[in-house]
Amino acid sequence: MSRFFSDKFKALTPYTPGEQPRERRYIKLNTNESPFPPSPRAVAAASEAAKNVQLYSDPTARALNEAMAALLGVEADEILFTNGSDEVLNFAFGAFCDDTCPAVFPDITYGFYPVFAEYNRVPYKVIPLKDDLTIDPADYYGGGHTVFIANPNAPTGIPLTRAQIEGILKANPDNVVVVDEAYVDFGAESSVPLMREYDNLLVTGTFSKSRSMAGARLGFGVGCKTLIQDLNTIKYATNPYNVNAMTMAAGVGALADEAYTRRNCRTVVQNREYTAEKLRAMGFELTDSRANFVFARHPKMDGGEIYRRLKERGILVRHFDAPRIDQFNRITIGTQDDMDALLAALKTISEELL
Ligand code: PMP
Repeated sequence: MSRFFSDKFKALTPYTPGEQPRERRYIKLNTNESPFPPSPRAVAAASEAAKNVQLYSDPTARALNEAMAALLGVEADEILFTNGSDEVLNFAFGAFCDDTCPAVFPDITYGFYPVFAEYNRVPYKVIPLKDDLTIDPADYYGGGHTVFIANPNAPTGIPLTRAQIEGILKANPDNVVVVDEAYVDFGAESSVPLMREYDNLLVTGTFSKSRSMAGARLGFGVGCKTLIQDLNTIKYATNPYNVNAMTMAAGVGALADEAYTRRNCRTVVQNREYTAEKLRAMGFELTDSRANFVFARHPKMDGGEIYRRLKERGILVRHFDAPRIDQFNRITIGTQDDMDALLAALKTISEELL
């Protein structure tokens, strides 16, 4: 820390992203990226756009907003595109939380939420998941907080139903409920249709997972016009050109190829079910994940040890040292070959450890 660093950030603990090793080739099952390349239409559109980057990108992201609005059945001005969904989440903490309206989220969820709260200098409260690692929606009823729920939750992958989300919305008429749908395309119910009835709903989404664009950084928020206006105020106060021209074009290209996205999601779901079944047969216990990862522990093998031994064998998964989940590993679903390599490595490891 330099002697110039502002006091207001001295206590800030930044988010620790998953490892992105460059020194050796791993089978990367640690950051929930897609195992598939982006749609060829996204790639072609991005390279075409690269020819014109002497110009600023469109701050209104009009083409993208229109394409996404058509897909979701909402109006273009009910959407805001951002630099990954991390950015819209950060904006939401800034826009909708303060001392009189703290944030609330589960104790086990996306690790960036407490960081966003601290960065925006807003108080927050965490509510423990139930013993089975599920969220009890009633815990979020009417507490005078801005609610942040990842649905499906991370790193458990466990979803709430749309009806359960609606219960939370109904019980918080005077507070915003942010539903982070980063993983929704792998088998959970989107809450976007509830937007018509609830002006307190903000749904966030990303192109990082189902649309294979993690490195392009494209996310979005969907909500009623006035909520989106508030987020735009923050965007235009910080970075009006937050989405670059290549990414914007790639996003439009990806949306023009929904069949490709749907096909990849189906494959990931199939590979997830295949992997879950094999892991259970090996004695692992898994949450009922509807995301592009599984969350698994073994009653007789230490979670950290499994993580280390997989890494030695060239397979990276995500291990969290947090209480209650330190015996689990979060394993991103890759191709069938990736999953077979994982299962073979786990078989060897269990022969060593059991
Ligand atoms: N929400 C959740 C629950 C996530 O796991 C992630 C990705 N790590 C994000 C949001 C942010 O993703 P991105 O910024 O790539 O859109």
